[in-house]
Amino acid sequence: MSQATTIDRANAATCEQPAIILDKVNKWYGAMHVLRDVSMTVSQKERVVVCGPSGSGKSTMIRCINRLEMHQEGRIIVDGTELTDDLRALDTIRREVGMVFQNFNLFPHLTILENCTFAPIWVRKMPKAEAEELAMSYLRRVKIPEQAKKYPGQLSGGQQQRVAIARALCMRPKIMLFDEPTSALDPEMIKEVLDTMIGLAEDGMTMVCVTHEMGFARKVADRVVFMDRGEIVEAGSPASIFEDPQTDRLKQFLSQIL
Ligand code: ADP
Ligand code: MG
Repeated sequence: MSQATTIDRANAATCEQPAIILDKVNKWYGAMHVLRDVSMTVSQKERVVVCGPSGSGKSTMIRCINRLEMHQEGRIIVDGTELTDDLRALDTIRREVGMVFQNFNLFPHLTILENCTFAPIWVRKMPKAEAEELAMSYLRRVKIPEQAKKYPGQLSGGQQQRVAIARALCMRPKIMLFDEPTSALDPEMIKEVLDTMIGLAEDGMTMVCVTHEMGFARKVADRVVFMDRGEIVEAGSPASIFEDPQTDRLKQFLSQIL
């Protein structure tokens, strides 16, 4: 076999490997069963939107994907690495998976630029000048390079959330997880954050987004997953989920949010 063929096959194998596999994942907080046999496969470059009522386990599920929470049963495999107690696996996952939270979680005592360069310098051991150049390129991309020297408290919520996205991107993740990134924002700031996320989706980022922004879901989601009481109840295209719900639970949920 020629070397080129070998490489092509290797590339094909990498492309076909799912970005995320959840296989019958179960999790309890004490006696409370919060994830019940959750199974889901996310392909490379796929965009999945997760919705469902408050307390249904959406945050817990995505926090398990980068091991901010630990599951107790089942398997989670991220880009070919299974999440186990092995710290090397954890290290790999944290490098590959970026996360954006509802409340931005920026370091308040660091400038915007320092927020973005902190992990590249201290985790990736990147030279400071290079990290700053990288950070500025992402701050330009989220359209706030002029805020670089300010502190988080001096920015609007929408600007802070865009910094949080830029900060995550500075680690060059393969997968981005979003947990209700716009739900703490005033309405006029939601669009600027969603537009940033739409741009990421258009660039081919693999994304799992917990959000109830249906316009966003319709525009970018390859698949919408509806969770209720710790279970994935329905999953399908945005059109099938929003226009043709199969279960009473989803019908009831949609009647509350639409
Ligand atoms: P969602 O994001 O869909 O609102 P969560 O994943 O935050 O749901 O929560 C699922 C369930 O787990 C809820 O009943 C919640 O109260 C509970 N829960 C979440 N985090 C914790 C925790 N750290 N300790 C105990 N219970 C928790
Ligand atoms: Mg949540």
